Amino acid sequence: MGQSSNETVSSSSVMTEFLQQAGGLAIIDGGFATELERHGADLNDPLWSAKCLLTSPHLVRQVHLDYLEAGADIIITASYQATIQGFEAKGYSRGESEALLKRSVEIACEARDAYYKSCESSCGSNVDGRILKQRPILVAASVGSYGAYLADGSEYSGTYGDTITLGSLKSFHRRRVQILAESGPDLIAFETVPNKLEAQAYAELLEEEEIKIPAWISFNSKDGVNVVSGDSLVECASIAESCKKVVAVGINCTPPRFIHGLVSAIKKVTTKPILIYPNSGESYDADRKEWVQKTGVSDEDFVSYVKNWCEVGASLVGGCCRTTPNTIKAIHGTLSNRSAALPPL
Ligand SMILES: [Zn+2]
Repeated sequence: MGQSSNETVSSSSVMTEFLQQAGGLAIIDGGFATELERHGADLNDPLWSAKCLLTSPHLVRQVHLDYLEAGADIIITASYQATIQGFEAKGYSRGESEALLKRSVEIACEARDAYYKSCESSCGSNVDGRILKQRPILVAASVGSYGAYLADGSEYSGTYGDTITLGSLKSFHRRRVQILAESGPDLIAFETVPNKLEAQAYAELLEEEEIKIPAWISFNSKDGVNVVSGDSLVECASIAESCKKVVAVGINCTPPRFIHGLVSAIKKVTTKPILIYPNSGESYDADRKEWVQKTGVSDEDFVSYVKNWCEVGASLVGGCCRTTPNTIKAIHGTLSNRSAALPPL
């Protein structure tokens, strides 16, 4: 990757080749924070799951492994809320902050190595309900939005105020994106992008910094029509479409009931693979900073949508907040005849 004389061709082929090997459809992992908490992590902190890079890297590795054993083909690093600015506010030096970002990618790569090891020793058979199958696995380095760093819920409103400009967003993300790209991931995952300005900032950064790792850009919506800021999804997806370094575009952290319509809208403006990883549909109480119990859909209901999403054009499917390895295992089950179910790419 990245070493050929034509980088653009080489980075766009990463996703194409990966999807071909996966039979046209691939599975992304599920909610990270939910699963870390289940393993006993305390996430009551503005750094959220990034805090565990500091306090409990073994739990982060375990959650990645849980998702691989549930059938995920792509695991997303715990760097969503890991920012140099956030770590520095906690008293870490610039060097330490950059090392933590790098660590998030290393931990995911370690989990992939451990997974491949257990595949070898299991001789391809599944053990205790764990899916142990040698297959291409990608590590995607998560980049949360500026709103995720603010930790005030603004990644769900997309309202950054007048003082935030294209330039300030690029400055905010620049060093983090460089460090993550140099840490050895297969992809950069720009997640939960709430507005057009931030999508533009990412697209320009990829070009300006000549980032050699391909990226995806994933938006969120709360009305099934626009992205959360109210900006047009079609305009947002068009920005992703016009950036050669972006190899997939889609939606995450959005209720399942909205996904079908959103994929159809994106499909009209992109030739790139479409990714979706919805949340469980539970509502989030921003004041209390907690999920409202029993407002979401069950794993069965979640999975009942999956074929439909693929028929309308999604080729990468996973889960976001409040989904678990069980959700991913259910998606894996439903897509196990994946190549047979779909027309060729
Ligand atoms: Zn989410």
